[in-house]
Amino acid sequence: MITRREFNAGLIASVAALPFASVAGEQKAKGDGPPLDVLVIGAGLSGLHSALMLEELGARVQVIEARKRIGGRLYTLFDRPGHPEVGGNSCAAGYGRVLNRIQQMGLPLYDASTRPPKKQGIELALGSRILQRDEWAKSPLNPFPQESRSQMPWEFSGAFMAANNPLKTSEDWLAESSAPLDVSLRDWLVSRGVNEATVERCWSTNPYFGTTAHDVSALLCLMNASWSKAITGGSRSMLSVQGGNQKLPLAMAGKLKNEVHLGKDVAAIRDNGSIVEVTCRDGSSYRAKSVVCSIPFSVLRHIAFEPGLTGPQAEAVNTLPYMMNTLVFFVPKRKYWEDDGLHPSMWTDGVAGSIMAQRFGSDAEEVTAIVANPRGKNAIWLDRLPPKDAIRYVQAEIERLRPAAKGALVDGAIHSWDRDPFAAGDWAVLAPGQVRRFKTSMANAHGRVHFCGEHTALTNRGMEGAMESAERVTLEIGEIL
Ligand SMILES: Cc1cc2nc3c(=O)[nH]c(=O)nc-3n(C[C@H](O)[C@H](O)[C@H](O)COP(=O)(O)OP(=O)(O)OC[C@H]3O[C@@H](n4cnc5c(N)ncnc54)[C@H](O)[C@@H]3O)c2cc1C
Repeated sequence: MITRREFNAGLIASVAALPFASVAGEQKAKGDGPPLDVLVIGAGLSGLHSALMLEELGARVQVIEARKRIGGRLYTLFDRPGHPEVGGNSCAAGYGRVLNRIQQMGLPLYDASTRPPKKQGIELALGSRILQRDEWAKSPLNPFPQESRSQMPWEFSGAFMAANNPLKTSEDWLAESSAPLDVSLRDWLVSRGVNEATVERCWSTNPYFGTTAHDVSALLCLMNASWSKAITGGSRSMLSVQGGNQKLPLAMAGKLKNEVHLGKDVAAIRDNGSIVEVTCRDGSSYRAKSVVCSIPFSVLRHIAFEPGLTGPQAEAVNTLPYMMNTLVFFVPKRKYWEDDGLHPSMWTDGVAGSIMAQRFGSDAEEVTAIVANPRGKNAIWLDRLPPKDAIRYVQAEIERLRPAAKGALVDGAIHSWDRDPFAAGDWAVLAPGQVRRFKTSMANAHGRVHFCGEHTALTNRGMEGAMESAERVTLEIGEIL
């Protein structure tokens, strides 16, 4: 058995020493021959991180992946100007695990905070009006208390959470004493004196979690707020891999002894007590002594398990909500923001959601993409349209709000994480009551099947959470190898 301390100590040196990928060790896809030590399902960050660590421990590992590409929810549009990110965007300064891997892979970092544009800002668009800060402060639409009326909606929500968060660390959310906070975000906010109109404006419009403040646990939001505070450590750094974050999983896959098998969409996982057999929809199957499964629960609920999952874990797999998040990308062929004098980025209460200008060019002022990001109920609505109509809808919405943009947005592209069959949503959300009911047991090993992925992390979120979960499964399996 290895301890976490021994494991961490050996990690850096041995990953750096790994040889480059070879296809020679490829495992037969058919169920004959000796079983693998470990089959890893999913070539996203968590699956690849665990595969590399398990190889270091001497295991024979094979990674399989349903998509025709590596990276999962790290997905860069390499062929578009500024290589926009469809998935994971940036790391804070405290993302120790992710930044460590980026460094080990020899990938250069880019810090967006070091090159802010000369004129920064976000326009507030409500209905068909764009309101400047002083207009918003006086507007009858503004439901904030007198002393906060000049705060914009996105500023008010952040400031309120920071000032009222009872959690001191991101671990506190799992403490028994935090259980009373596992109610809807709306109920907790109202109990803290926030009026309904403010809940609607700040937490149900362009939400980060849930479709509205009614269907997400306040405890998850408070954990996220305390984690974000700790992980940024007061630094404004927004770090990403130069040229695209997907370069990280691509580099990690390249360091594996066996090439990742792509196009392997798992349909069934059967554990006979000594060997696990994993069957894919193309008819191939794999046999392994242990399985690492990084599939999001939103997808896992459609995969057959034998023996079946039970108790709170089965409930979690079947009911864990996932964030609705759709991104619509445009290339601006004209600087229309110079014509109407407004900032290119906007926070709207319409279906287009928040609309951000990305500046990933060599010139810090250059806007390389305009990205609309409907979330929650807006994403649900937009996803009902055929993709081409959804792109047209968002473009028309931007042109309605600022006529100067007419005809300036070209090359529209869309990605709905909910319509993506291998994500079926963006990141995991916990509904009211779910933190208490299954957060600490949902990732328990099921026989020889071990679960990782951002949804199973306990004290981190996002990319760092995916890495945290990979370390946990590696320790679980390391003990039985
Ligand atoms: C729009 C967006 C923005 C984000 N921004 C940030 C950010 O700024 N900072 C941050 O830290 N995080 C961010 N994240 C979250 C971050 O990208 C994820 O937490 C992380 O990449 C998840 O890694 P994972 O390994 O848990 O899951 P995944 O990357 O989803 O890996 C799971 C893998 O399993 C595969 N799979 C699924 N079903 C099957 C099947 N049936 N058979 C075989 N394989 C299957 C999938 O294809 C996938 O490759 C963002 C995510 C999105 C979508």
